Amino acid sequence: MSKKVILKIRFGKPSTGCPMSEIEFDTEAERDAYLQGVDDMDGWEEYEYFEDEPTTPFCPACRGVEFKAHQVCRVNVVVTGDNMFVRYNPDGDLGSAIYDFYVPFGSYECCNCGMKFSELSELSQPEQQETP
Ligand SMILES: [Zn+2]
Repeated sequence: MSKKVILKIRFGKPSTGCPMSEIEFDTEAERDAYLQGVDDMDGWEEYEYFEDEPTTPFCPACRGVEFKAHQVCRVNVVVTGDNMFVRYNPDGDLGSAIYDFYVPFGSYECCNCGMKFSELSELSQPEQQETP
């Protein structure tokens, strides 16, 4: 385990009496990135930031792009001599045992925040990409 990097920092002018804070980082690079952000922010009162726009429909609550759904599949299985199910796939994982499948269907649940949808049309739509 490597040694933590401790940053002692005071926000505001010393005359305002703001207390010193200690912030712990795993690496000097993380501390330096934090200090770069503090330096960029210095003198501004607020900020907002923008992530890359999703390119597929996304969760309106958290902008997540993966959803739990349902799908009917045909799967190779192992059975007993009286045709009782024993296990999926004689040769490996379940994914490689699937040899036929149908279009996934709802209900849907955001993998990130758990918000539920009955239809994917309830998702937010990405901005149309400009084509040059
Ligand atoms: Zn979500």
